[in-house]
Amino acid sequence: MNESEILFLDGEDQYSSISFPIFQTSNFKFSRVEEFKKAIQDEENSLIYSRGNNPTLLVLARKLAALDGKDKALLFSSGMAAISTAVISFVKKGDRILSMEGIYSWTYHLMKHILPRFGVETDFVRYDEILDCIDERYRLVYVESPLTRTFELVDLEEVSRRAHAAGALVAIDNTYSSPLRQRPGDFGVDLVIYSASKYTGGHSDLVGGYLTCNKELYSHMFNHEYLTFGGIMSPLSAWLFLRGLRTISVRLDRIEQTTWKLIEFLKQHPAVEKVYYPGGGSEEQQHIYRKQMRGITGLFSVQFKRKDPQLVNAFCERLKFFSLAVSWGGYESLVLPYTMWEKTAWDGMVRLSIGLESSEELLRDLEQGLEVFLSR
Ligand code: PLP
Repeated sequence: MNESEILFLDGEDQYSSISFPIFQTSNFKFSRVEEFKKAIQDEENSLIYSRGNNPTLLVLARKLAALDGKDKALLFSSGMAAISTAVISFVKKGDRILSMEGIYSWTYHLMKHILPRFGVETDFVRYDEILDCIDERYRLVYVESPLTRTFELVDLEEVSRRAHAAGALVAIDNTYSSPLRQRPGDFGVDLVIYSASKYTGGHSDLVGGYLTCNKELYSHMFNHEYLTFGGIMSPLSAWLFLRGLRTISVRLDRIEQTTWKLIEFLKQHPAVEKVYYPGGGSEEQQHIYRKQMRGITGLFSVQFKRKDPQLVNAFCERLKFFSLAVSWGGYESLVLPYTMWEKTAWDGMVRLSIGLESSEELLRDLEQGLEVFLSR
């Protein structure tokens, strides 16, 4: 199936409706006890109760799995519900996880502060150390590539090869890339996890998450942690995510074009020390970028030469088209200054999320914002 078939056709033409209906129902009825009994014995493949399956979610899940080249997808109420469920599904007391420094803060919280209560410890290592650290002690190798502050990459094929040889599963937070810019399953990654609140939704009006994987891992999660934890996506959210998916390809193309223009502009600006984006570092990083990514999306960081927090804040507040807000991946441009946190390893730095505004207007806006560093 090609990308257009997945995005526009797959599963949506039932009942001749152009837009697939929202099945706003908690449960499904049966006419015979025997049929009901069979369904209960095989909930994974049945419509019984919407904490398990719901037709609107099934159409969305089929598209998301197909986009990633995986067998199956599970949908969740948030990216963190997807991450927590995936991680907890595959570790038990006494297991170790190998993870990375700089991963998303709440994922770090899960591994650093919650899992140890249940006897699961995590080692966090630098992106350029992870390959050498993989060994038989680990049950799960969890990566974020690119990282979403400094955008370093890890070689997914090599991570998967070494982890599988050591008997560990590999999970990735692929939110930055979306399936359109990186398909980790093609490089052997077992569990591909997303916050759908970013590019999948794309309109900053939804919170959701999902993961894609093979049939075996799916069956394990569905019949245990997914049904038990119950952090499911609602049918209305699933319908809105289906709508978001119809435009993901055009949104990302436009966002990528604008982002490259802004990165080039910022790289040569006298107030800027460094721009952080995937593949923007060493030759090795460029090589990994070309090998496993099919382009960038709209998130990157900028470090200024002058690190004075007041100047950084003044820059952010002067911008007209960039809202000061968390999250990213929506239609609107955002700025997040690292001066928000008292202790930070990223002095004089902001993260930008590029939206769908005109690239000329965004460029002019950044240019006038950067004047604070030149004129004071
Ligand atoms: N992963 C990354 C890289 C994120 O930036 C976020 C949210 O900001 C998440 C995961 C969590 O997703 P959610 O907010 O949908 O729970």
